[in-house]
Amino acid sequence: MAIINCRKCHRVFEAFSGFSSVCPQCIVKEEEDFKRVKSYIWDHPGVTVDEVSQICDVSPHDVREWLREERLSLKQGVAAGLLTCDICGKPILAGRLCEKCREKARLEMAPPHEKVQMKGSYVASPEAEEASKMRFLDSVNKNN
Ligand SMILES: [Zn+2]
Ligand SMILES: [Zn+2]
Repeated sequence: MAIINCRKCHRVFEAFSGFSSVCPQCIVKEEEDFKRVKSYIWDHPGVTVDEVSQICDVSPHDVREWLREERLSLKQGVAAGLLTCDICGKPILAGRLCEKCREKARLEMAPPHEKVQMKGSYVASPEAEEASKMRFLDSVNKNN
């Protein structure tokens, strides 16, 4: 058992678990805030973080955190504009990256042999492209 300061309200409390840095009152309050925000966003597609935080009396920071942590799971399009991709700045629904950048990050983390294979199947060499054009012209000439 330890005596620690609550991360949110800075009250001193006894932490029984040793894991939480937030006091029991704040845990309950955050759970209520979260439910309020979630149901408001659900009922009002297209709201902004500022609007939600004002109406639900929750700090904008908390709202963004929940979206980043993907605790708020939203309908397609509901949260457009609430969050942006860390890399390209495109609006996203949840998390930190858009689908494209997530895919790019995944490829960059993939083993090298996998990367080479993907490139080889996608990019045709200039010679191959020229050859297929010639074949096309050939068949056009024969048909005339
Ligand atoms: Zn607290
Ligand atoms: Zn992106």
